[in-house]
Amino acid sequence: MRGPSSPEWFVISRVPLGYSVITVDYGVMIMHIRIRKPLSGSIAAVCMLGTAALGFARETLPIVDTHVHYNVEARAVFDVRAVFEKFHDAGVIRAFVSSTPDDGTLALYEGDRARIVPILRPYRSPTDRADWWRQDAVLEYVLTRLQRDVYGGIGEFHLWDPAQTKTVQLERLVHEAVRRNLIMHVHSDADPIRALYAVNPGVKILWAHAGMSAEPETIGRLLEQYPGLWIEVSLRAQDIAPAGQLAIAWRDLFLRYPARFMIGSDLWTTSRWSQYADIIAEQRGWLAQLPREVAEQIAFRNAVRLISVQE
Ligand SMILES: [Zn+2]
Repeated sequence: MRGPSSPEWFVISRVPLGYSVITVDYGVMIMHIRIRKPLSGSIAAVCMLGTAALGFARETLPIVDTHVHYNVEARAVFDVRAVFEKFHDAGVIRAFVSSTPDDGTLALYEGDRARIVPILRPYRSPTDRADWWRQDAVLEYVLTRLQRDVYGGIGEFHLWDPAQTKTVQLERLVHEAVRRNLIMHVHSDADPIRALYAVNPGVKILWAHAGMSAEPETIGRLLEQYPGLWIEVSLRAQDIAPAGQLAIAWRDLFLRYPARFMIGSDLWTTSRWSQYADIIAEQRGWLAQLPREVAEQIAFRNAVRLISVQE
């Protein structure tokens, strides 16, 4: 089996219009890097040494996007083919997708099973968001859908109050996630995360938006306390890198827990699909300010590892 830490091979080929294509096989995926000018002999030789020698250019870093929604409104504007073009253009090699309703997720999954990790959203429609955690009908819906054994997790769902984790429906869902080894993708602040671990310490949680407003200190404490907690940092770029400059507290956090962070875009409105390439580019901007190994972990290796543990 190929080791995941360094590319196994490179193929450098010339194509028309003066482009050069470098194909890099990371073991977990294959990426194609397009460069506008033909490679000179010396640059080609440097490329043969490995991606570190490429200078770790922003556009070369593959991304696993762990927070994608393909909701009914977005489906009306962007068909499946258009979505995969967006992933391709943004260098996104895999995506964790949850949608309202779930049909959007499954449509993408059928479009490319290797690239899409379906996450089952408990919202049949946006109104379920108001009280999904105490609805028998939602629990039944989720359990029925899970019988189709394609999901890597349950979420993204919202919790505003730790008391919401005390309903029979939500407790059942947590135990079911643990039994089936599914991630729970949770949008909440810190207290509901602690409450979910009180329900079942074995639960694997992907914390959406790093808690949205949680400070690095709080995030660090939770990571220390709960080994089954991972963080995706969608919508946090302005906190992580104000004016594009990686903040020291976040940098320290990433260096302390390099295996626990992932990238997310959160396409919660259709307009964000239109901005997709820019959203991903913004992440690459601060990732490029981290040591290469750490940036690669956050960009794609952690997500690939998490989901292959599920399989
Ligand atoms: Zn969210």
